[in-house]
Amino acid sequence: MVRDTCGGSRKHAAGSLPSATGCFAFCSLRSPVARPPTAPYLRLVSAARGEQRRATRPKRRAVIIGGGISGLAAAILLARGGWRVTVLERDVRPPVDTPDEAFERWERAGVAQFRHSHTFLARLTWVMRERFPEVLNLLRAHGALELPLTVNLPPGLELGPREKGDGELVLLGCRRAAFEWALDRVARFEPNVELREGIYVEGLASRGAKGTGARPRATGVRIRHLPKPPPHADERIPWHPHKERAADDTPIPQNGRRAVLAADLVIDASGRRSRAAEWLPEVGARAPREKIVHTGIFYFTRFYRLTGRRPPGATAGLVAGDVGWLKLATFPGDNETFSITVGSDIADKPLRALSEPDVFEAMIAAFPQVAVWRRSGVSEPIEGPNTPVLVMGGLSNRLRSFVAQGAPLLDGFFAIGDAAYHTNPIYGRGATCALLSAVALADALAAHPDDPASALLALDARVKREIEPFWVSAAAGDRMSRVRASAAAQSSPAGLLPSLWTLFSAPDRVLAQLVAQALSVYFDHGLVPASRKDGQVYRAVMRVMNMLDDPRTGLLSPSMVARVLPVIAQSLATRGAGNAFPGPTRAEALALIERVQRDRSATRAGTRAPAARPPRRATPPPPGARLATR
Ligand SMILES: Cc1cc2nc3c(=O)[nH]c(=O)nc-3n(C[C@H](O)[C@H](O)[C@H](O)COP(=O)(O)OP(=O)(O)OC[C@H]3O[C@@H](n4cnc5c(N)ncnc54)[C@H](O)[C@@H]3O)c2cc1C
Repeated sequence: MVRDTCGGSRKHAAGSLPSATGCFAFCSLRSPVARPPTAPYLRLVSAARGEQRRATRPKRRAVIIGGGISGLAAAILLARGGWRVTVLERDVRPPVDTPDEAFERWERAGVAQFRHSHTFLARLTWVMRERFPEVLNLLRAHGALELPLTVNLPPGLELGPREKGDGELVLLGCRRAAFEWALDRVARFEPNVELREGIYVEGLASRGAKGTGARPRATGVRIRHLPKPPPHADERIPWHPHKERAADDTPIPQNGRRAVLAADLVIDASGRRSRAAEWLPEVGARAPREKIVHTGIFYFTRFYRLTGRRPPGATAGLVAGDVGWLKLATFPGDNETFSITVGSDIADKPLRALSEPDVFEAMIAAFPQVAVWRRSGVSEPIEGPNTPVLVMGGLSNRLRSFVAQGAPLLDGFFAIGDAAYHTNPIYGRGATCALLSAVALADALAAHPDDPASALLALDARVKREIEPFWVSAAAGDRMSRVRASAAAQSSPAGLLPSLWTLFSAPDRVLAQLVAQALSVYFDHGLVPASRKDGQVYRAVMRVMNMLDDPRTGLLSPSMVARVLPVIAQSLATRGAGNAFPGPTRAEALALIERVQRDRSATRAGTRAPAARPPRRATPPPPGARLATR
């Protein structure tokens, strides 16, 4: 049980919620039975906050570009740290009272993944307890789950007595819409946070020496007021897959009043599509250094609501498996919702048919551990049979640095969240990194209140320590996954070997590939099977996957290697027999897709054919869903 750090009597930081109203408004929500505040009450609090904002307005202004996860989190912390914060967000989110309404009504063209699966790692839960208790309490009061990873164990695994650190292994189960809704709600009631929506940031304003070689300084942003979106007739968003697919590329209207907004600090929290690499050169600064590794993955997601009283097998709903050519996972959500995501290699064209709901469902039904979630009487698609399968591609791992030779590229400019670093969503680390970077920024500014250059260096150093190792391991994992997926698609292991040409032309790449392969064997044939039998390995894997421990020390320590080596020997000797994630081969899956599509055409043509069935497997479905480790 997470302890409320405020306990109703916390002295909030200067400029933060006053104990008389704010503390009651949010901390009283800490128990799931507490009643959420009513709309009139919130309006009253809001008016009081407006008064307070005017009365105690700090002088220094920070402008945050983007009101997504990192932007809202940074706004809350900076306002509490004595900044006057203006958040500029291109999308308009009408006020809603529940996560369900946010999921149904918010049009988020600026966040294409808004209605894709999100898992919220244990490190995130931990940060929420420490720095955002009101947001966590609000989520608890509105149906989010806390899922201890030491309770829902893979069948047969004994963890033994509780150990120090076990209490940190708690995932947060909710939809991204719910998470953003709770952050948004707390940010809106924070004095000294002004949230301006329907504002598009076009670029930076700067002072300093364009063309002189001296370092310029960001002094604000150039904004455009976007035309008001047309009201939706029934106030629900028609979330059609094509709309989602195109969301990132939707052209921004070019009309609208333009202005410049001055600020002491500019913070880019504008997500994966951040245009910082163009904005900086426009004001005479060097573009950030970037490393990019493409994930090569297509992401297919469908949302459901449980119809029974409990999830199947009374498990928490955590299932994850990687069979090389396909990755599958279920994501527990708030208010009896959950989602299933399937990831395939972008080069695997036949698997693109997974965007068709009947094909998607047939594929799920062929994997017993996921299939239990879709049995009749267990769940139904969240919007009925017309619930789309959302598709997303163009996903990459990107790491940006805004520091060169020990100095900022642009004074007074910071980047956090996806704008600075993001990884393959399959690792579920984005929201955690977004919160971590918001916290790191707030701490850096608190330590160097009058020296933004030192604050940026402090932020950069912390990111290198706490986030970059995970980025490096994700990028390495993706490089190897792509090689394996293309070898699987060609049904040949040849792709796994470096070509003769590469051997001579780029020996360092060959070395990198060999290291990646060795790590992949260590992971697939060692850590994963060992974590199903050995409680210590399970804990270590979970801690690294949940960003509680550094991947280099957590999984490669001598004691861990000693535990894992015998398992690798056994797994290689038996050729990985005892696959923990049973399901069809790729060839069987392709035949299944063909059958579903043939049956559909026949049904449409009126010549009814038998419904497609998943291929019969020798392995019976497990008694409950289980947690595989990759
Ligand atoms: C398919 C998919 C699945 C994912 N699954 C997970 C998961 O399971 N777990 C997890 O932790 N993470 C996941 N992520 C990553 C997670 O969604 C991001 O890491 C997170 O949203 C980053 O937050 P952010 O605030 O940096 O950016 P965003 O949340 O993208 O917010 C950026 C905001 O900036 C606004 N904006 C952009 N440009 C402008 C502009 N010029 N002017 C004004 N406003 C602007 C946008 O409208 C948006 O509101 C997933 C990502 C994808 C793509």
